Amino acid sequence: MSILDKLKSGLAKTRQGIWKNTVGLFKGKVDEDFFEELEELLIQGDVGIKTTMELIEELKEIQGEKKLEGEELFTEFKNLLAGFLQSAPVELEKDQLNILLIVGVNGSGKTTSLAKLAHYFHEEKYAPLIVAGDTFRAAAIDQLKVWGERLNLPVIAQDPGSDPAAVCFDAREAALARGKNLLLVDTAGRLHTEKNLMEELKKIKRVLSKEESNLKTLLVLDATNGQNALEQARIFNESLTIDGIILTKLDGTAKGGIVFPLARELNLPVYKLGLGEGMEDLKPFDPTLFVEQLLGED
Ligand code: GDP
Repeated sequence: MSILDKLKSGLAKTRQGIWKNTVGLFKGKVDEDFFEELEELLIQGDVGIKTTMELIEELKEIQGEKKLEGEELFTEFKNLLAGFLQSAPVELEKDQLNILLIVGVNGSGKTTSLAKLAHYFHEEKYAPLIVAGDTFRAAAIDQLKVWGERLNLPVIAQDPGSDPAAVCFDAREAALARGKNLLLVDTAGRLHTEKNLMEELKKIKRVLSKEESNLKTLLVLDATNGQNALEQARIFNESLTIDGIILTKLDGTAKGGIVFPLARELNLPVYKLGLGEGMEDLKPFDPTLFVEQLLGED
C-alpha cells in the first residue's frame, strides 16, 4: 500500500467528527461566529489553546487582507496548518554506526515502533542490532526477544535488574565488533519514578555518545493521549533533547492535532507516524500530506 493510501485509511477515524466539522465550517459564512467555532474545533482537536490562538490570529489576518471565503480561505487555512509543522531530518548513513535511542512512557508503543524501524531499515539493507535497554521489566526483555526472532534479527539482552547503561555500553561494543551499522535501543518508561527514569536515560545517552556515532533520540508518543502527550514531550525534551517524535496509534480515534503544538510550542518535529500494529504500519511524516488527509474527503 502506498504511503498516501496508508495515511488515508489510517486517518479515516481521526478525520471524522472534529475535522469533518472543520471542513464543513469553511462551506458557510465567514463572520465572528466562524472564527469562534473554528477555535473551539481546533482546541477539541488537540491543537492546544496557544497554537489555536496563533492559527486563528494568522487566519484572521489573511482573511481580512484578501477578503477570502469558501474554498479559497480553506486552501489558505491548510497552507497555514502545514506551515506550522516540521518533519524530522533524521538521516542515517550505512558507513557509520547509527544509534536510535527510543524513549517514551510504557504503553506508548515504544517496543512495537522499534520493531517496525528495525524491520524497515533491515529491508533498506542496514544491519540492525536490537538492545533490550529496559532491564526493569522481564516482560519487556522477552517481548524484544520475540520481535528479534520474528524479524530474524539479533537482540542483545541481559538479565532483568542489570544496569541499563552497562547493557548499552556492551551493546555498542558488540555492534562495532560485529560490523553492525544500526543500534536500536529500547528503554524503560515507567512514569511513577519520573526523576530516576530521566537520570537513568541521561546516563544511557551519555554512555552511547562517548565515542563518535550518529545518535538520535526518538520519543514515542501515543496520539490518543492528547494534551498529556504534549506534557510528556516537554518533560522528555527538557532532560534528553529529542530529535524526533514517533506518533503512534493514529489509526484509532486519536484527534491528531497534537502535531501542531509539538512543532509550534516545543519545536519538536515528527519523524514517523504509527498507523497500525503491522510491521509496515510506520510511515514517514509529510506535513502537507498529513494536513491534506486530516482535512480530506473520504
Ligand atoms: P511500550 O510499552 O511503549 O513498549 O508499548 P508497546 O510497543 O508494547 O505497545 C503497546 C500497545 O500498543 C501494543 O498492543 C501495540 O500493538 C500497540 N500499538 C503500538 N503502536 C501502534 C499503532 O500505531 N497503532 C495501533 N493501533 N496500535 C499500536
